[in-house]
Amino acid sequence: MRGNKVEKCFSLQELNDRAKTTPVESTPIRFYIRSAEQLFRQAKIYQQEGDLQTSYMLYMRFCNLVITELSKHVEYGQPAYKASIVSLNKSALVAMTEIEALKPGLDKKYQEYQQYIKQREEMVQAQIQAQVQAAQAMDMYRQHNESQHRHEANRAIKERRDLEWACVQPAPGWSLAKALEGVPGLNAPQATQHRHAYQQDYNSTVGLSEFHYPEYKRQHHHPRPEISAPTSIRQQSFVPTPTGPPPALPRKPVTQSIAPKLPPKIQIEEDIHEFSQGLRTLIVPVRLLDRFLNIVRPNTNRKLETCGILAGVLSRNKLTVTTLIIPKQTATSDTCSTTNEDELFEYQSERDLMTLGWIHTHPTQTCFMSSVDLHTHCSYQLMLPEAIAIVCAPSHEKDYGVFRLTDPPGLQVITNCRQKPLFHQHPGEDDIYTDACDQGHVELLDLDLDIVDLRGK
Ligand SMILES: [Zn+2]
Ligand SMILES: [Zn+2]
Repeated sequence: MRGNKVEKCFSLQELNDRAKTTPVESTPIRFYIRSAEQLFRQAKIYQQEGDLQTSYMLYMRFCNLVITELSKHVEYGQPAYKASIVSLNKSALVAMTEIEALKPGLDKKYQEYQQYIKQREEMVQAQIQAQVQAAQAMDMYRQHNESQHRHEANRAIKERRDLEWACVQPAPGWSLAKALEGVPGLNAPQATQHRHAYQQDYNSTVGLSEFHYPEYKRQHHHPRPEISAPTSIRQQSFVPTPTGPPPALPRKPVTQSIAPKLPPKIQIEEDIHEFSQGLRTLIVPVRLLDRFLNIVRPNTNRKLETCGILAGVLSRNKLTVTTLIIPKQTATSDTCSTTNEDELFEYQSERDLMTLGWIHTHPTQTCFMSSVDLHTHCSYQLMLPEAIAIVCAPSHEKDYGVFRLTDPPGLQVITNCRQKPLFHQHPGEDDIYTDACDQGHVELLDLDLDIVDLRGK
């Protein structure tokens, strides 16, 4: 566990499965020797930084490669590799001791993690249960409110009707003659006088022929008469004003304020280790390209390729190119290959520098990965999945590219390719390699860079 985040833990069996490795015979054994050395170095770094399960997995991978797989390689018995293999076997003894020491702690951590997962599962289940219950309670509450509201509304309507019926009772001193005062045709002199005043009101009502005596209606509880009296009658206030406000309905309850509250959401964060899931970030100093091109310009002017090694360090699960090494090499206009590789690896070993990729120029060609480049890079990427190939084509508009083989299918296609001609086509050419900068794992940053030119030494 780190801070508030929860680190995903793997069982020893899962880590062992991830540590499996299978060398490809066609790849020169020296790449596997360098690869093994890099694995051992990385395992130590993760161990020092406290990332013990990655350290364990890398020690295991190292042991698998050195103890089980390397001896199967056709070049294994060759005297040229004897010293390297003896050195690797010594490291393997150290790795096995570390593996045994790491096991109990990792196992305990895994058991704790399983316990945590179980508890989290129970919490999630409890949360779901609480939400279901809350929803049911809310539903019942709403139904209850609606029925109460309906009931109260009915009662209000009934009360209003009763009130209207009550108002139809004649006021003290009521007389029909007085009530009809001003009604057109019943009291001629006043009717003409007031015609305009009540014209509109009168037109909107039913005819007087439908008017019934109040006593009659009250006694028999007939439905409310559809009548609106002319102004003069209404003025006597025994018929309620049709436009007057109805009795207030009971206010609808505000359900939210007293509704049951949902339980708070459980905050769970998982920090799944990048190394076990994908590529680690690889940081490249942005000035590397210009400085490399400056140094190799004499070769470029003579239309000769030049290559360099991107060496660097691993820290806190990030890889950073710190050093550009230009090894001894031979070149043509479309190829270059390193010579005296022992010197290069010795330089790196002494400084604990990992091989993170390589860079080369295309003095005449455009920026792309030739089939030769793809096969060269395959060895780098087998050593380190994050390894990159930078191609610089200074004579063309798009003057550089940062590439890696796709995995799958590129890495597998190139690993299994047995074509003899130096330059050849691969099936599914477009999917073999990809840009590692654009949404890839490579970041260009303004960092210092050491440059070591081994060519003149
Ligand atoms: Zn090339
Ligand atoms: Zn090929």
